[in-house]
Amino acid sequence: MQVTFWGTRGSIAKPGEPTARYGGNTSCIAMRTGSGTQLVIDCGTGAHGLGQALLAEGVKRGHLFISHAHWDHIQGMPFFAPLFVPGQEWDVYGPTGLGGSIRHTLAGQMESTYFPVSLEQLGATIRYHDLGEARFQIDDVTITTRYLNHPALTLAYKIEADGGGVVYACDHEPHSREAALGTAELTGQDALHAAFVAGADLLIHDTQYTAAEYPNKVNWGHSTYEYAMLVAREAGVGMLAFTHHDPLRSDDQIDALLESARESMLAAGSRIELYAASEGMTIPLASTDGAGAAAAPLVARPARDMTTVLQRALFGMTDPGLSALFFEAAAESGIDPLFVADAADARDLVRGEQVALAVVEHDPNRFDALAVARMIAKSSGGSRVPVLAVADREDPGGEEAGISEWLIRPFSSVYASAKMQAWVLRGKSRWKKAPLPDDESKRLSALYALELLDTPPEPRFDRITDLARRIFDVPVSLITLIDNDRQWLKSCVGIDPVESPREMSFCAHIVYDRKPMVVSDTFTDDRFAENPLVTGMPRVRFYAGAPLILGDGECVGSLCLIDTRPRHLDAGNMSVLEGLRDLVVAEIERDR
Ligand SMILES: [Zn+2]
Ligand SMILES: [Zn+2]
Repeated sequence: MQVTFWGTRGSIAKPGEPTARYGGNTSCIAMRTGSGTQLVIDCGTGAHGLGQALLAEGVKRGHLFISHAHWDHIQGMPFFAPLFVPGQEWDVYGPTGLGGSIRHTLAGQMESTYFPVSLEQLGATIRYHDLGEARFQIDDVTITTRYLNHPALTLAYKIEADGGGVVYACDHEPHSREAALGTAELTGQDALHAAFVAGADLLIHDTQYTAAEYPNKVNWGHSTYEYAMLVAREAGVGMLAFTHHDPLRSDDQIDALLESARESMLAAGSRIELYAASEGMTIPLASTDGAGAAAAPLVARPARDMTTVLQRALFGMTDPGLSALFFEAAAESGIDPLFVADAADARDLVRGEQVALAVVEHDPNRFDALAVARMIAKSSGGSRVPVLAVADREDPGGEEAGISEWLIRPFSSVYASAKMQAWVLRGKSRWKKAPLPDDESKRLSALYALELLDTPPEPRFDRITDLARRIFDVPVSLITLIDNDRQWLKSCVGIDPVESPREMSFCAHIVYDRKPMVVSDTFTDDRFAENPLVTGMPRVRFYAGAPLILGDGECVGSLCLIDTRPRHLDAGNMSVLEGLRDLVVAEIERDR
């Protein structure tokens, strides 16, 4: 297998005299195995030159892996010539963003405003494959992926073939600040990152910054030279190639950084070979005999076959209904479930297997989640495995015991799956369902007594929502009723009438709080940022609602406004909304 760099620059293409040697094109790497399997990783502007070279060589078949969809990693795709040529066959792989496939994401930059040829008009046969964390095979190549720490969902790729392995980890920010500065050992997620890299012959790593620059670049999503070297040493790789060079970094500066990196590696007693990746550089790996042989015919496998998962989670529960729900949620999230029936089994498993997450039923008589959380904290050696506790109500001792989040029953497998994915990928989930009100059964009786649920639309209600929509100039206004497990719409203007699960309902929060609620921008609100109604249709960005409280004191739903852009609602506006709400309540009460 051999690796050739076609683009090594981060963020934006930077041609010119100061970058002539290491190159000005953004990320693109070509790999070819001994038997001729052609792989391309990332499709920055370097892909233009690579495409021309592949056509000239007569390569007709290949696999293109996208780390993430930031411009500097995909901008060369509309200029990658093989995709335009009938008879060419390419498989494209990339991470699924929140709610969007890689195909959809790539099509975005080829819309007519930006580019004259659409994705559909490309001449080659192209298949798209959505990836999460997975391990799969393409002919003689084994590919393993792992999420990196970056503002966009980003995958690292481990490519193993011909007895050798290459890891491409770009763009990635250290999880720990000390590790970024190179002043601490790797722990937690940084240690897991190194464990993923372990054994590679060549590590190609993001080194956009130096430790000295990093304090001004926190949360920009990139690594330092110092961190990449820590990872390489911890992982025991043979070679480390620095890449994703900062656009402000001149060739002379890269020379100097490389020299001092080599000195510090030697001083640390390491024999890892260091390179600064440069355009046109080829690194041969062990056993490249036969490289350049005619490409063997390849058969791509459909995406669903690629879900051999890496993430294991421990499930400690005895309730069969709960086990069934989490079994389903684990399958939805691509998590390999390990069920245990008691705390002793849990301890053995945590010691023996690397688990990314634990979900534990909390019922002190059957399964004490707090005790399990303490045990996991002790046994997992500082890697901080998140523990989700499932219960009917929170136990005040949870925080001290190290419970990461309480999942209060009841909830659906969709909710459980969203929570687990969030914790496995990056910690804290940003979607919270509303708690149940204390008077829930009384509240439901009052709601059912109205006999309004599942009745046809009525002009007397629709007049009010239509008025609300026009007064506030929002696309959607609703009258919602919160049933046991669903939100039902008595009136809706601006949107198709659909009921949604109660755990997704914004109005359920109003029913719990019994107060008006304004969410000016859902993206910045931890209760709603990852709610499926925000990440998917109808893409709620703004919400304002007022509670429908009946004469007998029960809150049955809300009158609400929804917009797909962030908005502000001042106190005067709110009192208008409450006035309209009073009209809705009067209409409901009129029937009683
Ligand atoms: Zn980048
Ligand atoms: Zn990026």
